[in-house]
Amino acid sequence: MIAYTYKEHGKFELTEKPLPEIIDSRDAVVKVTMSSICSSDLHIKHGSVPRAVPGITVGHEMVGIVEKIGSDIRSFKVGDRVTVNVETFCGECFFCKKGFVNNCTDKNGGWALGCRIDGGQTEFVRVPYADTGLNKIPDTVTDEQALFVGDVLATGFWATRISEITEDDTVLIIGAGPTGICTLLCTMLKNPKRIIICEKDESRIDFVKSHYPDVLVCTPENCKEFVFENSDHGGADVVLEVAGAEDTFRLSWECARPNAIVTVVALYDKPQTLPLPDMYGKNLIFKTGGVDGCDCEEILSLIEQGKIDTTPLITHRFPLKDIEKAYDIFENKLDGVIKIAVTNE
Ligand SMILES: [Zn+2]
Ligand SMILES: [Zn+2]
Repeated sequence: MIAYTYKEHGKFELTEKPLPEIIDSRDAVVKVTMSSICSSDLHIKHGSVPRAVPGITVGHEMVGIVEKIGSDIRSFKVGDRVTVNVETFCGECFFCKKGFVNNCTDKNGGWALGCRIDGGQTEFVRVPYADTGLNKIPDTVTDEQALFVGDVLATGFWATRISEITEDDTVLIIGAGPTGICTLLCTMLKNPKRIIICEKDESRIDFVKSHYPDVLVCTPENCKEFVFENSDHGGADVVLEVAGAEDTFRLSWECARPNAIVTVVALYDKPQTLPLPDMYGKNLIFKTGGVDGCDCEEILSLIEQGKIDTTPLITHRFPLKDIEKAYDIFENKLDGVIKIAVTNE
């Protein structure tokens, strides 16, 4: 089979690999029908994920069909159509039992697929702890509708869940990239009084305005003023920082009202400063981290009910053999790209 492989710093390549086998009784092998490219793949390419292992197949967003199962798999059978979770988790350790699956203490716990073990930009993938790592796709939900469930959409869902949004709130989301839009879709489910999205890219601003006309849009330059003018208590009640740009962490707490919740979803290239003297008395609550991807069943059900639709994010489609072209477009943000579906015939 062909597999898009992390060769060395700065270089991914399509290579030939043997079909994956069941190694552990709790593994499944999934025939990948569709995968996508995430900015975390680019972080691996550019060396900002030191734990990424050269030689692995990249890709951690995928859907497919169960091809083989280990003897201890209880929830799936061969032929089931499934989403694959970005995170590997045992379901049994202290953190898993509390729902903090990102911190699963198993040696493959957390983000392993497409980082430390072979991932999904290929034809077949071995999924460890498949009973927790896979979710069945309802019959009425297409592969494209389910494509982002295991990663960016799980992230948006988790971020809004921990942000304790109420119907009286003005919610500010910083960043309208794929994760920002997924965060927006999940925030809309909470029905807050106002949603403001801050974005600098023209085409992404247009995307938000055309698809979600009720959402207020501002740019980083006018964000602070805009939020103060469009909120009831001198700032946003909840801020979700998804951008991870140079000044967006500072922007996130500056735009928050006193006692607000500021949820930091972004992954930064550099350390950020927390200037406590400047924010003294503002009594902010910061929540940070990587996604706890344990809500996928609920997310799939919301998609089935028509309450979440991420298909407008898919702006481009390529067959796996042309994945180099897809990366070129995604990496260089060409042609108004948001997300790309990479398909296997
Ligand atoms: Zn990702
Ligand atoms: Zn665990």
